[in-house]
Amino acid sequence: MRFTATLHDRNQNSAAPVTVRTEPGVLFIELENGHILDWTLSDLDSARALEDGSYILQNGKRFLEVTDPGFRAGLERSFPKNKLFRHTFFDRIGFAGCLVAIAGILAPLLVLYFFIAPRIVEKAAEKVPPEIEKQIGDTWFHSLTAAYRTDTALTRLVQQFYDSLGYGSDYTMRITVVSEPVVNAFAVPGGHIVVFDSIIGIMDAPEQLAALLAHEASHIQLKHSTRSIFRELANSLMFSLMLGDYGDFSAIVARHGDELAGLSYSRKLEFEADENGMELMFASGIPLHGMADLFRRMKMAQENGHNDVPDFLSTHPSMEERLGVVEQKIKERGESSRKANASLYRIWQEIKRQ
Ligand SMILES: [Zn+2]
Repeated sequence: MRFTATLHDRNQNSAAPVTVRTEPGVLFIELENGHILDWTLSDLDSARALEDGSYILQNGKRFLEVTDPGFRAGLERSFPKNKLFRHTFFDRIGFAGCLVAIAGILAPLLVLYFFIAPRIVEKAAEKVPPEIEKQIGDTWFHSLTAAYRTDTALTRLVQQFYDSLGYGSDYTMRITVVSEPVVNAFAVPGGHIVVFDSIIGIMDAPEQLAALLAHEASHIQLKHSTRSIFRELANSLMFSLMLGDYGDFSAIVARHGDELAGLSYSRKLEFEADENGMELMFASGIPLHGMADLFRRMKMAQENGHNDVPDFLSTHPSMEERLGVVEQKIKERGESSRKANASLYRIWQEIKRQ
C-alpha cells in the first residue's frame, strides 16, 4: 500500500513530500531525491491519530504526516496488533463518545442526587437519636419563631392543655402559640409544636384542639418532621459539601429555617399522623370525632373564604379525603371507653376566653 505524505525534519526545519510504502514490519519512506528511509516499529517514538483522520509518526526529530485516513489500514499491515496509538481517552472515543461517557457518568450521579440521596438521608434521619433531633429542632425553632409574635398567655394555656392530654411520647412536647392570621400549625423535630392562634379561632370544642395536637405530636413521634427536614436539606447540604463548605449542620438548618416554615409531608405521612393521632386520642379517652370535627371546621373556614388556609393543609391531601378516612376509622374502632381528663375542659374554657 502506498500513501503520499509529508516528512517534517526538525533538524533542518524542512517539510518535503514523500511516498510511504507499508510492508510487513517496516515502513519505506521514499524521498523525492530517490533516497529511501526504512522505519521499523522500534524506530518510532510515538504515533498519534488526529481528530481529522490524519496521522503523525515520530522518529527522533523527524515527523511523518499522513493525511490519508486509509493509512490506518496500512499501518495495521506493517505493524499488526501493535500498541502504536496510545491516544488519549478522548482521542479514542471522539466527541460523540465523550457525550456518551459524560452522560454515563452524569446520569447515575443525577439519579443519586435527586432520587437516592434524599432517601438515604431520610433513612439516616430515622436513626437520629432524639437528643440530636432536639438540637436540630431547637436551632430551627429559634430561627423560625423570630419572625412570629408569640402569644405567651395562650402558649402557657395550650401547653397546660397538652400536658393534661396524657399523650405518651419519647419527646417532651413544647407548645408555642403565635399570633397569625393563617390557619396553620406545624411540628418541629425533637418536640416543638407551633400553633397559629387562627386555627384555635375556628375550633368550637376541646376535642378538636386535642386532635390537632395529636396529629402534630405524631409528626414528631414518628420522626416525620426530622425526615422531611433532612430530605429538604439534603440538596443544600450536598451543595455545601460539593462546594467544600463544611459548615456545621445547625448553621445550615438555621440558614434555611425560613424556607422550611411550610415544610409539607407526603400524603402517606399525613394519613399516618392522622391515624397515629387517633390512637393517642383513643388511649387518652378523647372522643375520636374531634379529629373529624377539626377537618370539618377547617373545610368550613376554607369555604367561607378564609383564604389563609395554606394550600398544603387543604389539598395535600384534601380535608374531604382525610375526613373520609377518619370517619371510616372511627366506625372500625369505636369510641374509647375511657373518659378524658376533666381539667381539659376547664383549660379549654380559659383558652376560649383569650
Ligand atoms: Zn400534618
